[in-house]
Amino acid sequence: MSVHTDQSSVTVLGLGPMGRALAGAFLEAGLRVTVWNRTPGRDGELVARGATSAASPEEAVAAAPLTVVCVVNYDASDAVLRQDAVAAALKGRTVVNLSADIPERARDTAEWAGRHGVRYVDGAIMTPTTTIGTDDGVFLYSGSEELYREHQPVLAALGGSHTHLGEDIGRAAAYDIALLDIFWTSMAGYAHALAVARAEGISAVELAPFAAGIAAILPPVFTEFAADADAGTYSGRVNPVTSAASTMAHVVHASEAHGIEASVMRVIEGQARRVIALGHGTDGFIRLAEVLARR
Ligand code: NDP
Repeated sequence: MSVHTDQSSVTVLGLGPMGRALAGAFLEAGLRVTVWNRTPGRDGELVARGATSAASPEEAVAAAPLTVVCVVNYDASDAVLRQDAVAAALKGRTVVNLSADIPERARDTAEWAGRHGVRYVDGAIMTPTTTIGTDDGVFLYSGSEELYREHQPVLAALGGSHTHLGEDIGRAAAYDIALLDIFWTSMAGYAHALAVARAEGISAVELAPFAAGIAAILPPVFTEFAADADAGTYSGRVNPVTSAASTMAHVVHASEAHGIEASVMRVIEGQARRVIALGHGTDGFIRLAEVLARR
């Protein structure tokens, strides 16, 4: 069997919570799994389940045609992959980098891989460790579709949905950034809301059912406004940005009255007022996406 057609083994570099979950799912699917982590001793449970512990990253990558890397960021994956011995062992093999970072780092890694004869697909994981190996995991990939398809049967062992987004190697990281933007902005709003609610004597548990109701408004809004945003038609028929800015000011004033930092909402209100000042006051809030990109 050629090194490329062997679909029965895989190597995982990086055994943080996510790397361990990935290796565990591969084991569960019956693959031969070789693991390595910078700090030794993180593979005990995986070895007990049948994984092989490699003494070095070069030994690990030589054990399978496909290496999945999942470390904190691309400084870390560079530190592992770009060692001479590792690059030499990877020649002709495939790396799928599921570490998170920015598109430029994915492009830089692809360029390095090309120079060293390493076959490279970039990827991103959009769901927590608990989803790995279940139907709920969401995996994004970019780069050569042919290469992705070749390794898809092994990657499918991770469960969930796997989407190839295009040949531009930076595309998975670009989706990751946009989606993390939504997630962390929302989480920041939630943390801030809990502080304001607490200052008003409302517990998080009391607020929770209503907070969930607010969150439930968002999915249909995302879908509905997407086509508008692409077409540049920001209808404010239901809620013009003049009205939205007014409610943002309430959040700022109520927070600051309790001595709670409100600069994030102040910035957003300021941007909404900029939309109005540019003559778009009757548009919807999502006009902001266009105005933000203006110098
Ligand atoms: P971390 O992001 O904390 O990454 C920990 C891993 O990175 C460990 O294996 C650690 O090794 C390794 N590492 C850090 N610095 C270096 C370095 N300089 N050289 C070599 N290895 C290094 O934990 P996770 O496992 O949770 O996340 C891994 C990736 O998965 C991240 O990019 C994260 O954003 C992404 N992800 C995680 C999710 C989650 O729910 N956890 C969800 C979606 C994506 P050591 O043990 O030696 O420190």
